Amino acid sequence: MESNGGGASPIRREIETLKEERARIEQRISFLEAQLQEEASLAPQQQQNDGVCNGFCPSETSTVDANLAHGLSADSIYRYSRHLLLPSFGVKAQSNLLKSSILVVGAGGLGSPALLYLAACGVGRLGIVDHDVVELNNMHRQVIHTEAYIGQPKVKSAAAACRSINSTIQIVEHKQALRTSNALEILSQYDIVVDATDNAPSRYMISDCCVVLGKPLVSGAALGLEGQLTVYNYKGGPCYRCLFPTPPPTTACQRCSDSGVLGVVPGIIGCLQALEAIKIASDIGEPLSGRMLLFDALSARIRIVKIRGRSLQCEVCGENTTFNQQQFKELDYEKFTQSPLSTA
Ligand SMILES: [Zn+2]
Repeated sequence: MESNGGGASPIRREIETLKEERARIEQRISFLEAQLQEEASLAPQQQQNDGVCNGFCPSETSTVDANLAHGLSADSIYRYSRHLLLPSFGVKAQSNLLKSSILVVGAGGLGSPALLYLAACGVGRLGIVDHDVVELNNMHRQVIHTEAYIGQPKVKSAAAACRSINSTIQIVEHKQALRTSNALEILSQYDIVVDATDNAPSRYMISDCCVVLGKPLVSGAALGLEGQLTVYNYKGGPCYRCLFPTPPPTTACQRCSDSGVLGVVPGIIGCLQALEAIKIASDIGEPLSGRMLLFDALSARIRIVKIRGRSLQCEVCGENTTFNQQQFKELDYEKFTQSPLSTA
């Protein structure tokens, strides 16, 4: 028996070595396959851009000159040239983006990256709603703010950051808490709404307001080490209430300020919110409507799950609903969800 055991050991070692070799070879094959795919996808573009240098040069100008009918200025053509070179984006999508208006509610962990990218990519008019001030203990995730702005309104700090990235777009500051008394007036000024808040009453209020006004809503949430993302009220898709007709118990309504959050998690979800808003504004791709993205930081896993469609019984967007602007204004969302709109 002993000799068998002793003999098995070198065999096991050889098996382990061979397995490691196999893993290395498989890794190398995957790498080469990815490289091959990348070369194949670049080939048509390279043919199209034959003779075009990496920097911005006259031949690039001539490619987009033909599309000046879309109304892009010379500055915009230069600034957004890498967007314009994308076959699936191009001048039309950029032009749509420049004509669009997007409102981001909340300049915190989700709003920070969303606002930075929306400003950089050339959304024509970008609105920011926030009533809070910049605080040191939030800066690990609210990356749009700098230490120089501690104690100052977040909306002011965020707007300054957006303007320093892109001085050619319009930035609108709404330094107030979103309430039923002002939500209709503020949201009606924009094409798309991004919910970057962190509490249940705000989610219901923003979703209901978007339904009443017929605006698509890009909704994101991040808590602890997990995040989620979806698009509501888009082209016949569900609203927040279709999915959650009754508010969760208050004990389940955790917020970052109470439960903690790894800073980069809302950063990732906020970037994805910007992406979905850009897709809707520029009319490219398939926005994440009727589906939900679930992100788990620890396992580095992203899953897309199908969610229910529009509910005919939904109290706000359903078939026989009479929900209107007046009812919206009269609804007490704090009472409805039994949790406060803000901690401030
Ligand atoms: Zn609904």
